[in-house]
Amino acid sequence: MDGNERWVSGRLQHPDRDPDRRQLVAQEQEPFGSVLSCIDSRVPPELLFDTGLGDLYVMRTGGQAVGPVVTGSVEYGPMTSATPLIVVLGHQRCGAIKAAYQSLHDSKPLPGNLQAIVKALRPAYEQAVKEGGADPVETMTRAQVKLTATELRANADLAPLVRKGSLAVVGAYYSLDTGKVEVLSGKPS
Ligand SMILES: [Zn+2]
Repeated sequence: MDGNERWVSGRLQHPDRDPDRRQLVAQEQEPFGSVLSCIDSRVPPELLFDTGLGDLYVMRTGGQAVGPVVTGSVEYGPMTSATPLIVVLGHQRCGAIKAAYQSLHDSKPLPGNLQAIVKALRPAYEQAVKEGGADPVETMTRAQVKLTATELRANADLAPLVRKGSLAVVGAYYSLDTGKVEVLSGKPS
C-alpha cells in the first residue's frame, strides 16, 4: 500500500530493479505477496504497487476469473514458501466483467474460450443482480473480488494458514482514474 501511495503521488522509488537485485534473487525468490488481477493493460501490479524483481507473484486473467490452474498458481507461494499475502485485485471499467455481464444478461454466449471466462464470472453476476445498484458492472466487479477472496480464504489448503494468522487474503479495487487501490475485504489486523 505504501508503494501504491507512491504510484498515486508520482513519487516512485522503482525499488529492486537493478543488476544487484537481479543477482540477489537469481538463485532463490521470496516474494512478499501474490497478486491475482486482470489482464487489462492499465493494471500491472508491479507498477501500481511500485515493486520490482522478485517482490510479487502475479497471476492475471480476464476479470481475475479463476479455475483450477489459476487457483493452483495463487496457492503456490503461500503453500510452498510461506508467502504471507494474497491480493485479489479488481478494477474500474473492467472490459472482461462488462462483457460477461452483457453475455449473461442477454443470454448470449461469447465465442470460443471467452465463454469459459463468462462461466467463471457467473457467481459474481448473480450476486450483482441480487445487490442491484446504479452501475451493475461496477457492482459485479466488486462482487467478483469479494467472492474470489472469500473462496480462497476458505479453501482447504489456504484456510489453515489464514486461521494460523500466517496468511491474509485481501480483496481490493483499483481506480483507473486516480491510481488508488482501495481495500474491500480481509484487511489484516
Ligand atoms: Zn479487467
